[in-house]
Amino acid sequence: MRVATWRGGSEFTVDTVDDPSPGPGQVVLKVHSSGICGTDIHKTQGLFPGTPPEVLGHEFTGPVVEIGEGVESSILGKVVVCSLNAACGECEGCKTWSAMHCEREPRMAGGFAEYVLVDQRQAHIVPDGLDPETASMTEPAACVVSCLNMIGDLEQGCDALVVGGGLLGLLTVGILKLRGAGRVILSEPNPKRLAMGKQFGADVLNDPTKDDLGELVNDLTGGYGVKIGAEAVGVPQLVANVSKMIRPRGNLVLVGVNPVGSPLPVDLYDLHYREITVGGAFGAGDAFAEALGTLPRLNLKGVVSDRYPLEEITQAFAASAGGEGVKYMIAPHD
Ligand SMILES: [Zn+2]
Ligand SMILES: [Zn+2]
Repeated sequence: MRVATWRGGSEFTVDTVDDPSPGPGQVVLKVHSSGICGTDIHKTQGLFPGTPPEVLGHEFTGPVVEIGEGVESSILGKVVVCSLNAACGECEGCKTWSAMHCEREPRMAGGFAEYVLVDQRQAHIVPDGLDPETASMTEPAACVVSCLNMIGDLEQGCDALVVGGGLLGLLTVGILKLRGAGRVILSEPNPKRLAMGKQFGADVLNDPTKDDLGELVNDLTGGYGVKIGAEAVGVPQLVANVSKMIRPRGNLVLVGVNPVGSPLPVDLYDLHYREITVGGAFGAGDAFAEALGTLPRLNLKGVVSDRYPLEEITQAFAASAGGEGVKYMIAPHD
């Protein structure tokens, strides 16, 4: 089979390797769609830890085409979407942290390939009515669900602010609305992304290059700020800005992944005085199945900006890093 191997920096090669063969408890799927994640881009830019050579891609779907010993044959032919690893549910990592931190089960991904071998526990059957391309966005949706689960029950009707209208920001808007948020403000400079906020349920759209976001939040909330302030870009200064627009006892939610080594440039006395809770979640946490159940309730029409064959992975990464669209897919069999 063919795989796209990341060689460091923005360099990829397309290589021919042996077809995967499933061992006990494993399945092979034929990749239909494999989404390019912000963390994949950040790896190629040295902003997220990664060691080449590596086959990237952890947001993939496709039909199961081969099963190993001990796997129920009913899964053959079913379209599945995969979490990054199986979780034993018994180790300290699983019990005290999340499925993402299982100490026994290795990560099995490598979605920029024609076929992927995974543990059957990673494979979640995609419900009828959800197309494989949309279903491949379960992992990013799980990152948002896991993040919002950290704040507990959402105060019904509360005001919220989401900064950043990439896929994670749009999903944050949509999931906040599903959970009962009142007015949700989306702030994003790219007009195409900003307009898409509407279909996810954003009530107020802000282009920060044209209108001052701080003033807008002040006017809307009588100077108190929003209950939930989510930063979905991963830029420390934006996180700091959002922290100033949160009302006393509100939550600063870190949806975006900041580069390793980023300090938060805020006045900590101010956070203390206003009693702001700061939190985020790493990856999909334990929220993968919950996110798969949530996806059909969101309108993701048009979020996939383009699909590329394996051979054009370099162009696909460049387009994705350019930030013009929302989500870019690798489709190895198109
Ligand atoms: Zn991802
Ligand atoms: Zn475990």
